[in-house]
Formats: sequence, structure tokens, C-alpha cells
Amino acid sequence: MYPASAAPAGANSTIDLRSDTVTRPDAAMRAVMAAAEVGDDVFGDDPNVLALEAEAAELTGKEAGLYLSSGTQSNLSALLSHCQRGEEILVGASYHVRCYEAGGASVLGGIVLTSLPVGADASVDPADVTARIKPDDPHFPITRLLSLENTVSGKVIPIPRLSAAAEAARAGGLSVHLDGARFFNAVAALGCAPHELAAVADTVSLCLSKGLAAPVGSVLVGPRDVIARARRWRKMLGGGMRQAGVLAAAGRHALAHNRARLPEDHARAERLATLLRGLDASAPGKPVVQDTNMVFFSPRPEDIDRLADGLTRHGITVLPGGTMRLVLHKDIDDADMDRLEAALTAIYDTARV
Ligand SMILES: *Cc1c(COP(=O)(O)O)cnc(C)c1O
Repeated sequence: MYPASAAPAGANSTIDLRSDTVTRPDAAMRAVMAAAEVGDDVFGDDPNVLALEAEAAELTGKEAGLYLSSGTQSNLSALLSHCQRGEEILVGASYHVRCYEAGGASVLGGIVLTSLPVGADASVDPADVTARIKPDDPHFPITRLLSLENTVSGKVIPIPRLSAAAEAARAGGLSVHLDGARFFNAVAALGCAPHELAAVADTVSLCLSKGLAAPVGSVLVGPRDVIARARRWRKMLGGGMRQAGVLAAAGRHALAHNRARLPEDHARAERLATLLRGLDASAPGKPVVQDTNMVFFSPRPEDIDRLADGLTRHGITVLPGGTMRLVLHKDIDDADMDRLEAALTAIYDTARV
């Protein structure tokens, strides 16, 4: 690691490209948090939590909403509300629910998670859904739910493609959940209304703490009875929060003010991808890929050391890995993009000498 004291002048504000979760509440958001009226949400009387839940439900055309501490807790509460022990969820093999949520639905719910193949477009195929719905036979778990995701690693799945899988599920008597951690990035890229995308699923989990730039929280929206069960699960999971209005106020501010700017993140991701292509930064046969607010590239083996050192020296934070994921978000502005461009250009100039 490069010692912080040796960082060049002007690099004291780091450019953090690890994720869109790194955004910090801005002055306007902190002001609404400081001024937030609160109650005790476990008693159901925190006005900001109630308003956030109602606003998220209204925006997505669902009956009810539930404020939760994280996307993981929101997905888990939804899965536990849809399924009983011995029941089965069909989910894309690479989706977050299957890979990155510690198997919570299986651990806590006795639910079987069955993988569906995920295509190059990040979608699941309706024929694969149909093929995996089990007949009523005591040998098999009872297939109960299809769990979709949008966006998937930044990739946007068009509504007709999601609907096809959802219809295959419903034809077999299944309900449908959508992990919409980056739901509003998908809405921005599709140019649709939020309720049009939300209509593909019964329940939708929305993250406030990613591109929408709130510090904490997710909202689960769906039918009133499912959300009531999810509220009980949230309590069991230790997620009943008291004066949560301080956080919910940030979430309301995020929903109201930070959705419209998401296309800026997508445009900056495109600019970064174009720059990396121009610098020939990705290894042969490994194209630079950009979808919504994410850029993926595979540094050439001969560049890896100087790239890591150069990024550190210029105050640019990334997650290490053979394939690098760079994520654009609200705390990266055009001046940061200029700095990033100058830094990458300098790094690649020296690397190729
Ligand atoms: C981040 C993420 C989650 C989980 O959200 P946390 O708030 O980090 O628990 C779920 N699904 C997807 C697709 C995500 O990207």
C-alpha cells in the first residue's frame, strides 16, 4: 500500500469506485434527518417510517410497504413470507438472493433454493422455470416462488423478458419476487414508470442505500397480507427499529430527489468505459463492459501492479480482482471524472513505456 502521507496534492478526497453503497448523505439529506419528526415504529407511530412505506407502495403501485434495515433483510423477509418449510424457490444461479445472502432462506426458513440458468442478458428463461416446477409428489419440495432480479450486475432486463418468466411461474401456481436493489437504475434505463416494472412481481425489494444514496435501508412493497407477514418476520429477525424516522427521512429524501439523477451515473459509466477502451486497458479477448452505472474490465497481466499502485497514488479506491468492477454513483461528479481520466491516462502512459 502507498502511504497516505505520500499521496499527491489534491488527492485527499478519494474517488471510491468500489460500489454505489459508499455514497454519504449530503447536506440536504442530513438536514431532513436532523429535522425529522419521530415516533416509536414498533408501536407503529413513527410518521416518517409510515410515510416512506406509503410513498414507496404508491410509487410502485403496490398495496403496502415495509421499511427494513437492509436489502438482505428485505429479501429474506419476503422469501420467508412467501414460503413455508419444505417449500422451494426458483432463483437465477448468479443472483444475489442465491449467492450473497448467506443462504438465509434455507437456514432460517427451511426453504430449498433451486438454481435456474442465467443467460448472457442476465435473465432466466421461462422454459427453465416451467421445467423446474415440481409436480405434487411427496418426493419433492413444493415449488412456491420465482425470485427475479433487476438490474443484475448493472445489466437491465427488459419488462417483456421478466414478464415471460413471471407468467411461466404463475401458470404453475407460483408467486413472484423481484430483488430490485437497483430497481430505479433499471427504471431509468428502461424509461418506464416504476409501477410498470414493479407489476412483473408480487413483491419488490428496493434499496435506498445504493444509487439513491441514503445511508441505510430498503423498502419491501407488495400485497397487504404478504407485507403483514413480512413485518412479523422483520421483528423475529431483530429488525423492528424504534425512532427509525431519522433514517426513513433520509430514505424519503432519496426517493424524492435522487431518482432523477441516476442517468448521470449511467452517462459517467459510459464515459469511463470509452476511456478504458481507448487506453486498451482490458486484456485481449476481454472487452470492457458497461451497463447502467457499472463498468467491468480485465486488466492485462503486465499492467496489474502499476495499475494498483497508480490508482492508490491518485486516491482512487477499487475492489481488487481479476475482473475489475467500477461503480459510478452520486459522489462522483464531472470534476472527479476529469481527475480519473487524467490518472488513468498517466498510469497507462507509464505502463506502456
Ligand atoms: C446490495 C444488494 C442486495 C442486498 O442489499 P444490502 O443492503 O447490502 O443487504 C440484494 N440484492 C442485490 C442485487 C444487491 O446488489
